[in-house]
Amino acid sequence: MNCSPHPNALQPGTLYLVATPIGNLEDISLRALRVLRECDVIAAEDTRRTGQLLKHFGISKPLLSCFKFNEARRGQEIVERLRRGETVALVTDAGSPGISDPGQRIVRAVIAAGHRVEPVPGPCALVAALTASGLPTDEFHFVGFLPHKSGQRRARLESLSRLPGTLVLYESPYRLERLLAELSEIVPDRETVVARELTKKFEEFLRGSPAELLQLARQRRLKGECVVLVGPRRAPIAREA
Ligand code: SAM
Repeated sequence: MNCSPHPNALQPGTLYLVATPIGNLEDISLRALRVLRECDVIAAEDTRRTGQLLKHFGISKPLLSCFKFNEARRGQEIVERLRRGETVALVTDAGSPGISDPGQRIVRAVIAAGHRVEPVPGPCALVAALTASGLPTDEFHFVGFLPHKSGQRRARLESLSRLPGTLVLYESPYRLERLLAELSEIVPDRETVVARELTKKFEEFLRGSPAELLQLARQRRLKGECVVLVGPRRAPIAREA
């Protein structure tokens, strides 16, 4: 494996997708800092939040707000900047752009316009939660957030329950109990993990059946960001005739 540092300066006309910490500021990469320092402009989901991150690292840079509802319009503006030979870094509030966050539409627009997109990989709650969960990592299905409406959630969970591999869901702390209650009805026997406050002071991994975790969530009134992972269906136990 060749792990040499990227020797080149930023390439004009390139969009850099820069992953940022999901809680622990030490998780920013050296390359992420260099790209943020050297690019022409940073497109950010929340300019105030990114401004704080940049301030922490002593970086001052023009910011362009780019969130869910102006992503299409901003995509065109970013394409125009790339056409002029600028370098643009795209960041979200936390983690990897495009993973349950703005980014994908912009990436498609930039590719369609014939410009280069370069990932600057780093923190992602999905990968952090999955790799430390103890659940199988060889095959998994990333779900992100479920729909809010009860009927749609149930239908989606039922169809997801038929997939092989580990399921990885993002959930707001306000809906965690609801999700665990749904899982205890739909997949009561599956090994489940709640990964909370990843990379932060009170990080923890809670493991058990959905019903056990529901009881715990009710007792402790769990708050903070979390990822919920559901292990695969266990193979039926072979029985002798
Ligand atoms: N783009 C981000 C990523 O790469 O993981 C995800 C952004 S999404 C809007 C936010 C969700 O990610 C949270 O509701 C939670 O499910 C999960 N998440 C983000 N940070 C987390 C953390 N530190 N601990 C646990 N879950 C986290």
